[in-house]
Amino acid sequence: MEQIVVDPDRCTGCRSCELGCAVRHSKAKTLLGAISESPLPRKRLFVETFGGRTGPVICRHCADAPCVKSCISGCLYHDERGFVRRRKERCIGCWSCVAACPFGVITPDPVLGLAVKCDRCHKSAMPACVEACPTGALTLADLDAVAAAARRQVLAAEAGQKKGA
Ligand code: SF4
Ligand code: SF4
Repeated sequence: MEQIVVDPDRCTGCRSCELGCAVRHSKAKTLLGAISESPLPRKRLFVETFGGRTGPVICRHCADAPCVKSCISGCLYHDERGFVRRRKERCIGCWSCVAACPFGVITPDPVLGLAVKCDRCHKSAMPACVEACPTGALTLADLDAVAAAARRQVLAAEAGQKKGA
C-alpha cells in the first residue's frame, strides 16, 4: 500500500500543500474558481508549528482507525484499498470522529454539518498535497520500501559508530 510520507526536515512551512488540498476538493478544481466558491473548500491536512518545528499533519488512514470505530452512523469506512473514507450522506454531524482522531485531522464543517477528512485523493494517481509540495517534504511511497530504507539507515548508523569507536 502506498502512503503519504512526511519528512518534516524538508518542510519550509509554505502551506502549498494545504492550498493544493483545498483546490483539489473544490467544485471548480482551479485556484481562481475555488476562492470564489461559497462555502470555501476546506483543506484536509494541517501545517503546524510546535517546539521550533514546522510540518504537515495528515491522516494516516489507520488500519484500526479510532474515527471509524467512533462513527455511529456508518459514515466512515475503509475502502477496498484501505483508505478511510466518508459516505457524506450518512454523516449526522455528531463530531464523535473529530474527538476520536488522535492526530486532530478531522474537522467539523458547521456550515454543511459534515465531518471533513482526507480521502487520499482516491480518484487521482497523485494526492494533491504531494503534487503541490515544492521541497519533497511530502512523498508517496510504498510502506515496505520505507521500512527497508529505515533498516538500511540503522545499519549505516551502526557502521558509522563502529568506525568512530
Ligand atoms: S482521521 Fe485520524 S483516526 Fe481516522 S484514519 Fe485518519 S489519522 Fe486515523
Ligand atoms: S508544501 Fe511541503 S514545504 Fe510547503 S508546507 Fe507543505 S509540506 Fe511543508
